[in-house]
Amino acid sequence: MLFNKVSIIGFGLIGSSLACCIRLHNLAKEIVAVDCDRTVCEKALELGLADSAMVDLRNGVEDSDLVILAVPVGACGAVAETIRYSLKEGAIVTDVGSVKSAVVEAVQPHIPAHAHFIPAHPIAGTENSGPEAGFAELFDGRWCIITPLPETDIQAVEKITKLWEACGSTIEIMDVKRHDLILAITSHLPHLIAYTIVGTATDLEDDTMDDVIKFSASGFRDFTRIAASDPVMWRDVFLNNKEAVLEILQRFNEDITGLQKAIRKGDGDYLESAFTRTRDVRRQVIDAGQGG
Ligand code: NAP
Repeated sequence: MLFNKVSIIGFGLIGSSLACCIRLHNLAKEIVAVDCDRTVCEKALELGLADSAMVDLRNGVEDSDLVILAVPVGACGAVAETIRYSLKEGAIVTDVGSVKSAVVEAVQPHIPAHAHFIPAHPIAGTENSGPEAGFAELFDGRWCIITPLPETDIQAVEKITKLWEACGSTIEIMDVKRHDLILAITSHLPHLIAYTIVGTATDLEDDTMDDVIKFSASGFRDFTRIAASDPVMWRDVFLNNKEAVLEILQRFNEDITGLQKAIRKGDGDYLESAFTRTRDVRRQVIDAGQGG
């Protein structure tokens, strides 16, 4: 058993999936579900994923060895500020946020000297939200990126590493800036594109839209899955990873302009060579065991 008492603040997809893993692998004696939504707390108890559940953040973290922030990234700073005086000696605070620089900046100033903050991000998720969306296999065979700060306690990092390894994940240690740039291209830009494509379709006339839905299996449906992701979570991702997303978006705009020109000029060689390069990337993704 890694921990006596674990408090999970934000009992949605990621928080409840972690609770499933902690229960399944017997990683803690006691789990406390903490969520601002009372119905979520009730659901956590009904699903048997927590021993107690509460909306009060301060009470929720009392005596906990591990506090997991699983709220949208924009809420992490305020949550850390609220719980700071209730953290016990030696408590480890970690998060699961999809953005790291902004979360570290918002949370670290509120961590008292007697506690440790270990930022982390599981590279796993679905388009679903809420406690009923969670499942124990979510993190199995996936990466978890840990971005410890230079002054971070090594033993606390080891504990968080063990937690994620027990959930089936492989650990990568990374610098926060690098994390945010890599995720801007692998996750944030694809979500922005999906939201845009599906948004463009919703502006079409009603009869055209009906046919878009009918024939969506030709590619559109894959974007609808991504574009169904939680609006609050993704609002916060874009507001908190502004710099890296705008840099990648600039490159994307240049590349799409190149393709636009090639289509207009009938430059088949340009298009074929661009599409051949991307096919190679798909092979590399499959070879890396990330094909899905
Ligand atoms: P989710 O299913 O929407 O759950 C978030 C929960 O936190 C909700 O129940 C929400 O309640 C609650 N909450 C929000 N603000 C709170 C506050 N100040 N205090 C207490 N509870 C609060 O979200 P999720 O998908 O699990 O995402 C949680 C975190 O994981 C985010 O930081 C996200 O970046 C990260 N993450 C997500 C994925 C993914 O694919 N979903 C993958 C990796 C990492 P309300 O709904 O009432 O606001």
